[in-house]
Amino acid sequence: MAHSILWLEEKNKAGAKPAPRSRRRAMTYDEKSGRMVPVEDDLGNPVIERLPAAGHTGPVTHASPMQVRRAIEFLKFDGSMIAAQITGAAAAVPDTDRSHELYITAKARYHGWVEKGVCPCDAVMSGAIKKQRIVDKGVREAIDKGERCQRTAPSQPPCKHFRAEEAARKARNVEEDAKRCEAAKSDAAKSADRHTEALLTLTERLAGEAAKKAGGGK
Ligand SMILES: [Zn+2]
Repeated sequence: MAHSILWLEEKNKAGAKPAPRSRRRAMTYDEKSGRMVPVEDDLGNPVIERLPAAGHTGPVTHASPMQVRRAIEFLKFDGSMIAAQITGAAAAVPDTDRSHELYITAKARYHGWVEKGVCPCDAVMSGAIKKQRIVDKGVREAIDKGERCQRTAPSQPPCKHFRAEEAARKARNVEEDAKRCEAAKSDAAKSADRHTEALLTLTERLAGEAAKKAGGGK
């Protein structure tokens, strides 16, 4: 089977326009203003996201993108967002072979990926994912209470449940990463850590004793 991702070449000729709909400004939710704001890197440059490109039809000079849903954006179990492509190739003709889409949606269901714009409570209640996959306690409680939000457009701010779930998944991922780092440390590194700790304790004790002596001499 061919590789399922097919990126279209962009700007392969000087002055050529990039393929439409294959890149966009990265946006994030801003807690303070309650709006979506553009993401900037540490130098203040705009962050650009690449998306799975759609195939084009028509003459090379005036090609227009095919009207096909190329990818679904998901919040993954580790708290990151991905655009999972659902057609086998950028040039796939709509409504012909849906096998890759079925594979991706089954995978998303198994791992508890939440589609962007969908409330996690709604995803559980509609049967898209299982409740066990929800990480945030508050969202689990909201599900028990029967709360659910309307679907929002991907450009709109996500609902509070989505934001809480995203933060909880990210926090869990950081925690698990730290555990893996600790487990992967060599014996030499662990022994060096213990030496450093012992030295610090000794220094603190000596400093404490010196302070006591200085205090007693007055
Ligand atoms: Zn919600």
